Amino acid sequence: TPEYISSIKPYEPGRPIEAIEREYGIKNSVKLASNENPLGPSPKAVAAVKSHLAGMNRYPDGSGHVLTGMLARKYGVNPDNVVIGNGSDDIIALLAQGFLGLGDEALMPLPSFLMYEISVKVSGGVPVMVPLKGLDIDLDAILKAVTPRTTMIFLTNPNNPTGSHITKDVLTAFMKEVPENVLVIMDEAYIEFARDKAIYDSLASPLQDPRIVSLRTFSKAYGLAGFRVGYGIMDAGVAGILHRVRQPFNVNSLAQVAAAAALEDHEFLNQSVQTMHQGIDFLQEQLSAMGIQSFPTQGNFFLLDVRMDAGVVFQKMLEQGVIVRSMKSYGFETYLRISAGLEEENRRFLFVLEQLLSQAG
Ligand code: PMP
Repeated sequence: TPEYISSIKPYEPGRPIEAIEREYGIKNSVKLASNENPLGPSPKAVAAVKSHLAGMNRYPDGSGHVLTGMLARKYGVNPDNVVIGNGSDDIIALLAQGFLGLGDEALMPLPSFLMYEISVKVSGGVPVMVPLKGLDIDLDAILKAVTPRTTMIFLTNPNNPTGSHITKDVLTAFMKEVPENVLVIMDEAYIEFARDKAIYDSLASPLQDPRIVSLRTFSKAYGLAGFRVGYGIMDAGVAGILHRVRQPFNVNSLAQVAAAAALEDHEFLNQSVQTMHQGIDFLQEQLSAMGIQSFPTQGNFFLLDVRMDAGVVFQKMLEQGVIVRSMKSYGFETYLRISAGLEEENRRFLFVLEQLLSQAG
């Protein structure tokens, strides 16, 4: 095994809810840790999947032509600009495999989504981490970090875990300074939740800049995280490289069917976005009334400062059946990240947190 592989720290997925509930003897736990959709999957996606079960003796459509065609129409691009993947994780990995030679550099914010670093290392590339400025991606520092070995830049908009965002003006100015041969990967996993109209949306007028790769997912606003479907919209030449690298059946049949149905379920999408906006507003108002600072967000999640060791708070809340994300390993010692849940879930989170903090004095 090459050293660049053995040195990788494996991604630590959250434990399954069933295992947590068994260990702590709790039921009906509330999970606000993974920025998932609390409403469940689109009912239309569920119905479509059920009606396709009988065809599971067949291989999937390896070209994903129905879903790819729908996405191409939605954004006004050609099918050869679309690559679908086993979650957007898959597209991130394909970009790294397709574009990084040994020792090539990929720039990314620190902290940001962990899979950028892992995928770059797996491909023998060098992740170059550029610290945030406060809670914002530091685009000036990213430009300063560009070297002749820089092949790609990952930007998350809105950013996970901080909820901050990059506006259109700022991104446009940034692109003028990025060298011609560098890919800029705009990871827009949470953009459906963004409320600031000034946010840069790379698919508002796609493919104007061949360096920009837009990444989207069905895991968040569309509620299909378990099916694993994400996609990228990109220059046809870039897409052609990913098609060389990807597995022939990288998105399974049921996932393709579910995503296609969810894409047309506008009502569910609107309801999801609305539910999460209401949840965020409610949580932030209540936290503020409790004297707890939380931070503005364009995602379906936000950071809050509990002014105690976040690892301890995480563990104590877990024992009460409320699962949140500690930001300790991201360098925010006293911060939690939570996503908006259903109203009763949000209330339970607030109740457990308030109890815990009052006990701590
Ligand atoms: N990008 C960001 C910023 C994320 O937060 C996530 C999921 N946590 C992903 C990509 C991956 O999403 P998926 O693979 O489920 O599409």
